[in-house]
Amino acid sequence: AVQYRDITAAVTRSKGAPFVLEKARIREPHGAEVLVRIVATGMCHTDMIVRDQYYPVPLPAVLGHEGAGVVEAVGPQVQNLKVGDHVVLTYGYCGHCVSCDSGHASYCAEFYPRNFSGADAHGHHALMDKDNQPLNDHFFAQSSFATYAISQENNAIRVPKEAPLELLGPLGCGIQTGAGAVINSLKATPGSSFVAFGAGAVGLSAVLAARVAGCSTIVAVDLVESRLALAKELGATHTVNGRDADVIAQLKAITGGGANFALESTGNRHVLRNAIDSLGNLGTVGVVGAPPLGTTAEFDINDLLLGGKKIQGIVEGDSVPQKFIPQLVTLYLQGRFPFDKLVKLYDFKDINQAAADSEKGITLKPVIRIG
Ligand code: NAD
Ligand code: ZN
Repeated sequence: AVQYRDITAAVTRSKGAPFVLEKARIREPHGAEVLVRIVATGMCHTDMIVRDQYYPVPLPAVLGHEGAGVVEAVGPQVQNLKVGDHVVLTYGYCGHCVSCDSGHASYCAEFYPRNFSGADAHGHHALMDKDNQPLNDHFFAQSSFATYAISQENNAIRVPKEAPLELLGPLGCGIQTGAGAVINSLKATPGSSFVAFGAGAVGLSAVLAARVAGCSTIVAVDLVESRLALAKELGATHTVNGRDADVIAQLKAITGGGANFALESTGNRHVLRNAIDSLGNLGTVGVVGAPPLGTTAEFDINDLLLGGKKIQGIVEGDSVPQKFIPQLVTLYLQGRFPFDKLVKLYDFKDINQAAADSEKGITLKPVIRIG
């Protein structure tokens, strides 16, 4: 018989509903799965857009996809992780499609089912609620708004024990997305100009990474003044308020004719248009902000064509997580990637406060302390 253990999970019962802490049960790990005792989990804007059903993950569900914790048990096919290892949980991927084989697992052919279907790759659940009804789970191959989570071995990334585990969860999604977009996808070069449209957790991680990459002009654009001030503290050389009527003209002046690299992380189609328009010739804009499915945007075709501009979609910073997450931990421990300045800690019972503070712009990156 399948063994279960008692857990507490934050359940999203219906569209837009608050998270409710409930007693639930999780089964022991099978195959190449690991069971992780969650120490803390980041909260990312993607948790909110799924709660609000921009992406139709079936409900009721346990969300959460920036888990950090300690391996508690391993399935019989696990090879490289052992009980007691510290891990950061990242996105799920199959590991054997053309994208995975070429080192681009965030474009896995099974990305949607493995991260957003509310079940594992075979359509099965690992969680049951207090009435023995299955809960939609395996969100980003983890569902980390819970005291325990099941992931696959390949999305549980071992991190050094000298790093503060409680802070590391966001490296699994939001921070990796912003930093990886700049370093892995855009490949921003030393001396170049970079503009972050949106100075939230993703955009500010991109600002930190632009400094690591040696960009000499780093601009943050946002509507919230406190975020612009923090961007300056983190290494932005300039800031622009997105409400200004002349955003594009200001950016062209700051970058000497247009940006070499830009990142759109607001999910607003008009901001994407501004980002394209403020690129210089041969500039590239990375797109990470996620609007509702089906959203379209407009741009001037001849401006794109004559300027040799590029628009690049990016998932999870196109990172090889086994390589990139430990690299970010090392940069953090060296003081060169102070992502902890984005983090505010909350107790598990205050998870809805964390969500509200994030949506109001009070907190950049909530991290929920769980165990
Ligand atoms: P966030 O809410 O912390 O940041 C968004 C920022 O955009 C906020 O600071 C907000 O003030 C700013 N903003 C909103 N409208 C604006 C406008 N018109 N002009 C200028 N700034 C504006 O969210 P986040 O956690 O940083 O995530 C950003 C986006 O990236 C979300 O859409 C999220 O779903 C998405 N995301 C995508 C990936 C991926 O792999 N592609 C991964 C993680 C998150
Ligand atoms: Zn995320």
